Amino acid sequence: MAGQSATPLPLVVHGARALGLSLTDGQLRQLDELARLLAERAKRFSLTSIRTFDDIQVAHLLDSLTPVPYIDHLAENDQNESRTDEAIRVVDVGSGAGLPGLVLAIALPAIEVTLVEATSKKAAFIDEAISVLGLQNARVIQGRAEDVGRDPQFRERFNVAIARAVASSPTLVELLVPLLRVGGRAIFMKTEQAADEVRASGRALEALDSVVERVVEVRGIASLRNRMLIIVKKRSNSDGRYPRRVGVPHHHPIGL
Ligand code: SAH
Repeated sequence: MAGQSATPLPLVVHGARALGLSLTDGQLRQLDELARLLAERAKRFSLTSIRTFDDIQVAHLLDSLTPVPYIDHLAENDQNESRTDEAIRVVDVGSGAGLPGLVLAIALPAIEVTLVEATSKKAAFIDEAISVLGLQNARVIQGRAEDVGRDPQFRERFNVAIARAVASSPTLVELLVPLLRVGGRAIFMKTEQAADEVRASGRALEALDSVVERVVEVRGIASLRNRMLIIVKKRSNSDGRYPRRVGVPHHHPIGL
């Protein structure tokens, strides 16, 4: 099996290099351990539909690394603007089995990652993975983004909010932007079909006083499916009406 060869995760090493990232042996060991946990639990709990070790390396680990260069960069900018020595805080909304949050915590040990997941079984898996991997900079909150986004402990607290495969862009604007500090960025991990969604997000962006700052296409990285990262910047404190109650952002996206 590829995962048991001398060099762990050859596909991740290769792809990370193409992304301009260099991972330490310790980070690779943690990613390898995570891949094994995912492979093992995927079978038992049907946590994800991606089950072969090669698929896990590419579609989960490598894919979750695609936003790393931008988080690093945004975090630096945001810190300069606010001149603080506090750790950069990232929130991953709808983490499922911990993606991309656990991978981000491994790749960026200086940032603090909060993973928000509604389902208790998945949140328990994330919690276990955090302790098995010995991640000091990650924690999981079991709950709904709508509730977490209204909790003063979490509202307007994060530099970066990210989500992969959770909801359409207008819904993500409502779920993620309230969690951000003013000047923070939301990153939606999307595929190339997302251009229409971005166009449909105008009203939501307006309601949450935020703008699409940048759309990044990540192409030609190993066998990774092309990624589109939609980067949204928050301009002012969020209207207290948002996020609306659980389920509403999903069923009735703003403006649609
Ligand atoms: N981000 C992961 C999981 C995607 S599946 C990945 O890319 O592999 C979507 C996950 O989001 C599910 O686990 C679901 O329970 C969670 N989810 C959906 N809506 C949510 C909400 N409003 N708050 C918190 N979690 C949510």
